[in-house]
Amino acid sequence: MNGECGRAGCRRKFLGGLFVLPAIASLIVPRVGVKAQDREELEPIVQPARQDPAHYIERAVALADLSLRRGDGTGYGAVVVKGGLIVGEGRNRTIATNDPTAHSEVDAIRDACRRLGVQTLQGCEMYCSARPCQMCDTACYWARLDRVHFKSAGTNIVSFEPRYARC
Ligand SMILES: [Zn+2]
Repeated sequence: MNGECGRAGCRRKFLGGLFVLPAIASLIVPRVGVKAQDREELEPIVQPARQDPAHYIERAVALADLSLRRGDGTGYGAVVVKGGLIVGEGRNRTIATNDPTAHSEVDAIRDACRRLGVQTLQGCEMYCSARPCQMCDTACYWARLDRVHFKSAGTNIVSFEPRYARC
């Protein structure tokens, strides 16, 4: 009988702990993910002075600088262009969101799809501050982007068609 009561007491203590632990954890774990929500309100896009690749790349580089200045992530930026207009912008947010996949290209794809109300981006091109990694290259493939351009050494711009899991 004593053993029976002891087990029940242990179970009550254990169940009580389940409710207390999340409350304690919420005090300890910093709320670093809040910045991820700031895109719920779409920031207005300032179009470049001229509709040409050099100006789209320039905007991507400015977003990369913004990523560094805000401490959101490593310095990478990207824009999605349709019909000469920037329709989506992204910057690396890996630090701000604790998300290793929050690369600028993925951020720009999500932003453009949200603004255009579409699931894929046929008829759009992406301009990046640097060569996309394999994950972003594949994301561009799944987004069905027509072409991707990135800033290479000096002022050179390199272009390619996104392919699945390119090595
Ligand atoms: Zn990437």
